[in-house]
Amino acid sequence: MDFAAARAELVEHLRYEIKDERVLGAMLRVPREVFVPKACQDASYEDRPLPIGHGQTISQPLIVAMMIEALELKGDEKVLEIGTGSGYQAAILAELCRWVVTVERHSDLAEKARQVLDSLGYRNIEVHLAGDRLGWPEGAPYDAIVVAAGAPRVPKGLVAQLAPGGRLLIPVGSRYEQQLLKVTERHGITEIEDLGPCRWVPLIGEEAWDAD
Ligand code: SAH
Repeated sequence: MDFAAARAELVEHLRYEIKDERVLGAMLRVPREVFVPKACQDASYEDRPLPIGHGQTISQPLIVAMMIEALELKGDEKVLEIGTGSGYQAAILAELCRWVVTVERHSDLAEKARQVLDSLGYRNIEVHLAGDRLGWPEGAPYDAIVVAAGAPRVPKGLVAQLAPGGRLLIPVGSRYEQQLLKVTERHGITEIEDLGPCRWVPLIGEEAWDAD
């Protein structure tokens, strides 16, 4: 299978929704097939989530692109991602900002993602195994935080990890469907914008859902 051609075709399809050329360029550079289990590699460039083990998924490319476009990254930011999963979204972020901190609660997913990201030569990504508190307070403040899992409400503990003017992208709703919210902190005032419906696996932990 010609992955590069399939990737270019996917990016052309994303263009209908995604206008930021920097985001499209990153989607064109990052090889999604290396983040996907061998058994479904041929589906790497179908615009849909795919299973990566532990009941988790690598996100749909359009949703990854929408989330990252909404972060309005310029290149010098420090970004926190919650839910490393395969590491794919972390790689896209790393193409577009200065430093990425990403946390994952499944140790073998974190380890696998670390290996793939290393093998691709990323040197601006830290992968951590999630601790008891949501996010990675040790590395705060962050210019942007992106949560790759759905939460029942906006966790205060994450808003606290934002730098002044920072933005948090988080799906909020039930365990099965959510609205994508963009939360911006300005002079101590929290603004919330609703970017529309979406569907993510649950965010587990304090201020989120219980593990099954
Ligand atoms: N961004 C990923 C997809 C993430 S799927 C990619 O590009 O492939 C969501 C991930 O969030 C799952 O791997 C799940 O284990 C993880 N997760 C759920 N709750 C978490 C938490 N509190 N901290 C860190 N990771 C969490």
